Amino acid sequence: MSNRTFTMIKPDAVKAGNIGNILQMINAAGFKIIAMKYTKISLDQAGKFYEVHKDRPFYGELTEFMSSGPIVAAILEKENAVADFRKLIGATNPAQAEEGTIRKLYAASVGENAVHGSDSDDNAKIEGDFFFSGLERF
Ligand code: ATP
Ligand code: MG
Repeated sequence: MSNRTFTMIKPDAVKAGNIGNILQMINAAGFKIIAMKYTKISLDQAGKFYEVHKDRPFYGELTEFMSSGPIVAAILEKENAVADFRKLIGATNPAQAEEGTIRKLYAASVGENAVHGSDSDDNAKIEGDFFFSGLERF
């Protein structure tokens, strides 16, 4: 079991002014920030990041949305980070997300759902390496 996960605050949540609220919830849940940046990804980079979904019907919509505005990317550390973070963000579709989760509070739809959270230790490493060099981790 790894103790790190990767997250993005997605363009919808940035646009809505929820960076601070979401970081507050991440801190309150006991995650330590190992790396963080405010950046914007291109359509090509979004396509590469979400390559596992390239045959899904929502791939075009997803990659256009994720490259539509700035995001906050971060590596987070906590015991059982991947699973605990997925619990904190809630279900992919905010209509099905539990009360008190980030997506229940801040996501508008399944497509624009406020945050990303890695789904496995392997993907947490791949995704963190996609955004951060060793020099950017503390
Ligand atoms: P993420 O990987 O962003 O943390 P997730 O793991 O909960 O989300 P995935 O199945 O990996 O969900 O889907 C990746 C993203 O693709 C979702 O967060 C959402 O933005 C988008 N997505 C998933 N299903 C749909 C759908 N049916 N329609 C539109 N967009 C979708
Ligand atoms: Mg996913």
